[in-house]
Amino acid sequence: MGSLNTLVLVCLAYVVLLFIVAFFADHLAARGKSARWMRSPLIYTLSLSIYCTAWTFYGAVGNAARSGLEFITIYLGPTLVMVGWWWGLRKLVRVGRSQRITSIADLLSARYGKSNTLAIGVTLLAVISVTPYIALQLQSITLSFAIFAEADPSSRFSDTNTVFGVAVGLAAFAILFGTRNLNANERHHGVVTAVALEAIVKLVALLAVGIFVVWGIGGGIGPTLEQIDRSPIGSWHVDAGRWSTLIFLSAAAFVCLPRMFQVTVVENEDERHLRTASWAFPLYLMLMSLFVLPIAAIGLQIMPENTNPDLFVLAIPLSLGQNGLAMLSFLGGFSSATSMVIVAAMALSTMVSNHIVMPIWLRNQSPGASVSGDVRNVVLYARRLCIGLIMALGYLYYRLSGGGAALVTIGLVAFAGISQILPALVGGLFWRGATRNGALAGIAVGFTVWLYCMLLPAMGQGVFSDSVMHNGPWGVAWLRPHALFGLEGLDPTVHAVFWSLSFNTVVFCAVSLLGFPSPLERLQGAQFVHVFEHSAGPRGWSGSVAQSEDLMVMSQRILGSREAQAFFDSERERQGGRGALPEPTPTFLERLERELSGSIGAAASHAMIGQIVGGSSVSVQDLMAVADETAQMLEYSNQLELQSAKLEDTARKLRISNDKLTQISAQKDSFLSQVSHELRTPMTSIRAFSEILRDAETMAPEDKKRYAGIIHDEARRLSRLLDDLLDLSVLENGQVTLNYENGDLADVLDRAVATALTGVAEPLEVKRNGSIEHVRVASDLDRLAQVFINLIANAQKYCDAIHPSLTIRVQKFGTGVFVDFIDNGQGIPEEHQQMIFEKFSRVSPEKAGGAGLGLAICREIMERLGGDIEYMRGKGGAAFRVSLPVGAEIGK
Ligand code: ADP
Repeated sequence: MGSLNTLVLVCLAYVVLLFIVAFFADHLAARGKSARWMRSPLIYTLSLSIYCTAWTFYGAVGNAARSGLEFITIYLGPTLVMVGWWWGLRKLVRVGRSQRITSIADLLSARYGKSNTLAIGVTLLAVISVTPYIALQLQSITLSFAIFAEADPSSRFSDTNTVFGVAVGLAAFAILFGTRNLNANERHHGVVTAVALEAIVKLVALLAVGIFVVWGIGGGIGPTLEQIDRSPIGSWHVDAGRWSTLIFLSAAAFVCLPRMFQVTVVENEDERHLRTASWAFPLYLMLMSLFVLPIAAIGLQIMPENTNPDLFVLAIPLSLGQNGLAMLSFLGGFSSATSMVIVAAMALSTMVSNHIVMPIWLRNQSPGASVSGDVRNVVLYARRLCIGLIMALGYLYYRLSGGGAALVTIGLVAFAGISQILPALVGGLFWRGATRNGALAGIAVGFTVWLYCMLLPAMGQGVFSDSVMHNGPWGVAWLRPHALFGLEGLDPTVHAVFWSLSFNTVVFCAVSLLGFPSPLERLQGAQFVHVFEHSAGPRGWSGSVAQSEDLMVMSQRILGSREAQAFFDSERERQGGRGALPEPTPTFLERLERELSGSIGAAASHAMIGQIVGGSSVSVQDLMAVADETAQMLEYSNQLELQSAKLEDTARKLRISNDKLTQISAQKDSFLSQVSHELRTPMTSIRAFSEILRDAETMAPEDKKRYAGIIHDEARRLSRLLDDLLDLSVLENGQVTLNYENGDLADVLDRAVATALTGVAEPLEVKRNGSIEHVRVASDLDRLAQVFINLIANAQKYCDAIHPSLTIRVQKFGTGVFVDFIDNGQGIPEEHQQMIFEKFSRVSPEKAGGAGLGLAICREIMERLGGDIEYMRGKGGAAFRVSLPVGAEIGK
């Protein structure tokens, strides 16, 4: 009879052996002397076998005993992945290597723009779905111990202590070999080698039990097959829906489980190992499943009714007194459980410490700390702590759940949970449009549905009561956890997987399509999706002309083609080179980087040049896309700037015209008051004198005549004023019609002098320069004469010289002619020279004169005639210059 003590001894000896193997493997690897076999594809394939946990070692037989051939789906999924999707795995491995990925959470985070939120989400999901699975392994070890204990009445077996001891032992192993050092590439040779050894042990154990059952009990192949047919297993039918779901689920879990990711991707030494594994691992699985049915069938036949079929592998040899075989079988199960727990704890602890513990620690740290070496130690301690925590969680879960449910159920729940990563993972590898928000939303929704439809119901009565399960929460039927949205009659697993993954995928795609990836996501997406194109051979920093072209194209996108061309040309000249483009020498690259950083910022510019010249993983097209986006943004902001400049301009114009309006309004007011003032003066005298005439009864006839004369003069002044006002308003409004005709300037001047001086008592002397005045002009001659008359009359009126005289000088210039009127009076003081052309402006109001409209009218007329009138300084007396275009001869 195998005593429990022997078992414990054997078990300890086995663990010591594992320690030694792991230690030497690590030791050799650390000294760079790892033997060829350690790096062989065989070790890689064997390490993949951590897929076969105690769940598959014991549970497959139990599953076969309960549900017939269904257990095979768990092997079919990974087989399909290995055979049909090894290229996808190769992509994962390549990405993992080129991005230095440390875990599946790290992978998703890296793909979606280094998002730590996503990493935390995936880590939590992984911890939640894998913890029950770890509990399951602890349970299986305990159960197997218990079976031995039953057979050994002398033993004092306590399953609580056993579980605790096992959990502590496994944690110690994982800590010792999983966190010995922080390898840059995160590989753990010791653990992998130990796991490979365990893979052999479990296979040999299962085969040995199988051979014993078929030939030792069943009596050979034929009778065993007959026995299978006779047993309840033979009558099980295949449920297509459940089968395909389970195959899919195990395939998804094979890719997504953190521990599988650890051995497939992180621990991978060489991509080519996958080629071997793609046939060798399915072969391994086939061997593992070979004897499952016979063991189940014979077990059902020979074992007592109440035996747990999950433990047939152990119970059959034990009940038949085959202690050695039972011991081997125990070691097989033990191997399955321990290898899984160790790798899972390692993988999870990496995730937890990298994405949750370290960010928190770093945030609470002074900025200088991250530079010094103590971070390394903190990471190691964080990982150790996390391994401890995860094992503690598994242990707690085992204690709380009581370890009741059949192994297979817990395994499936974990599979379905971890599969929620699949859409984001596959989408990230093959779809550049996938976004971080899409991945987050998809995983969150999928996780929630999984929690509601699968994990919580699996926890039994404690969580969901019977009434919730049958009638839905609060009696809402379409919320029943096993018949969500009225989808009834499905197997609960199929139902939960269907809803959770459908929602997950739809939400992931929809949110991704609606959103827009950030530049970093875009770059990472390109690196992931096109990993094979970009990470081919290593290229050095020694640039080639082809790279110069790429650099040129990129610079054109960023700087604009003319500037880029100019920059490249000047650089080429600086190098004194021939050829079309400069050599990508370090100096040139440095200058280019500085040049680009002006437009897109230092970091982006560095990254972009690094990507092209460093020969790393982003294609020129991807860079172009990023550059285009940046250019678009720049363009957009330029447009905005332009718009705001326009707005400012409009505002400025508005301000100006507003000022003008205010000015005009003020002018209008002053104009009105001036007009009324000008009108009132003559009106008052007319009224006064007419009243005198009317009221005086007797009046000397000469008085009468004088008063009437005054009234007459004032009335004339009034009408002249009104004429002038009318004239000015007509001119100002542009309503005047000009009457162009040909004429001689001398004639016009003759007429003007005559008119201005007619009836004047003492006309001033007018000096003219004779023949030069005969200039042919085409203009409105009457209006021109009006201007001249005004100027002559002003000189007559205001020239205060003793012998007043006026010089009229005609000079030709270019296409026009100047007519200057210069008198010998005092002239107009400088401060008034600009003003005299304004309406109602009079320099010396006390002097008899007009209303100050004359020069204003002159200016208006000259403007209409296309000429000008201005005051000339420093000419002795008052001097006005009229400039006039000669004009094309009319009618010729
Ligand atoms: P008015 O119609 O009252 O003569 P103008 O517009 O022709 O008004 O002239 C404006 C003012 O310019 C006059 O009031 C006068 O003081 C001044 N002025 C015009 N011509 C002369 C001149 N030749 N010599 C001195 N002052 C002059």
